[in-house]
Amino acid sequence: MPALPPPAPVPSGRNWTPAPTVRASCWLHAAAVFGLAAHPPAWPWALGGVAANHAALAVAGLLPRNRLLGPNLVRLPEGARRRGEVALTFDDGPDPDVTPRVLDLLEAHGATASFFLIGRRAARHAPLVREMVRRGHSAENHTHRHFPCFAALPFGAVRREIAAAQGAIADATGGQAPRFFRPPAGIRSPLLDPALAAAGLLHVSWTRRGFDTVRRDPAVLLRRLGRGLAAGDILLLHDGNAARTRDSGTPVVLEALPELLRRIAAAGLRAVSLPRAMGAEPAAATAGTGGGAGGGAAAARLPPASCASR
Ligand SMILES: [Zn+2]
Repeated sequence: MPALPPPAPVPSGRNWTPAPTVRASCWLHAAAVFGLAAHPPAWPWALGGVAANHAALAVAGLLPRNRLLGPNLVRLPEGARRRGEVALTFDDGPDPDVTPRVLDLLEAHGATASFFLIGRRAARHAPLVREMVRRGHSAENHTHRHFPCFAALPFGAVRREIAAAQGAIADATGGQAPRFFRPPAGIRSPLLDPALAAAGLLHVSWTRRGFDTVRRDPAVLLRRLGRGLAAGDILLLHDGNAARTRDSGTPVVLEALPELLRRIAAAGLRAVSLPRAMGAEPAAATAGTGGGAGGGAAAARLPPASCASR
């Protein structure tokens, strides 16, 4: 397993408040321990209760759009909806082949977006990340190494993955640390929210996703993302690990994106980055000025309405 880079700058965090589900789970564990101490023959009940609780938490973690394990942005807040904004988000980049073409397509349509970057890829392609931010997009945190088993990591490893990506992305942008986080495949554990709070990051999932790492048909991607397209939507695409079309072998995201941008404009909507939609300063305006601590503090200032769900 490759070693992590040196520790990242520690951003200022926010206070962590356990979600009601997590608080109830803690009480259940405490009750099981005390019940066992008071009446040892009841151990099957205590063990069964704890096992059922763990199973329920695991199911909650597999449902990316729920808020049972902590705050989760699945739609933009009311202000952004009133302004007719939608957020395009791209995961798993940067990719030296696909990302520059995504940037050109966005620019041609006057759109900005948020890129959830894999930290070590950001370090490898730092000029591309800097260009992304220069064009008004935001660079966000998608872990440092994008482990498929990220949700199963212990707390210390979760914190190190997040901090390493914060540092790598802040370095690549020239000093702007991410404010938003999305775990690999959207799968989360109960340990993730306290780690995000410590890093000053807000968890983001999506309103709709196109499955463009597995679907090879741009029409299917467009149908999934465009169904009920409305102000406030957060759409998930991928500039990294993109599937290729069957006939031309073109990354499916590049085939679908122009038409998606046309449909967004035709609906009277505007694609913007997450910081802009959330009322924070545009990404490009803060490049080179904030550093790790600045990015964390900005996330901590995001309005509570940001966690609205539907
Ligand atoms: Zn991913």
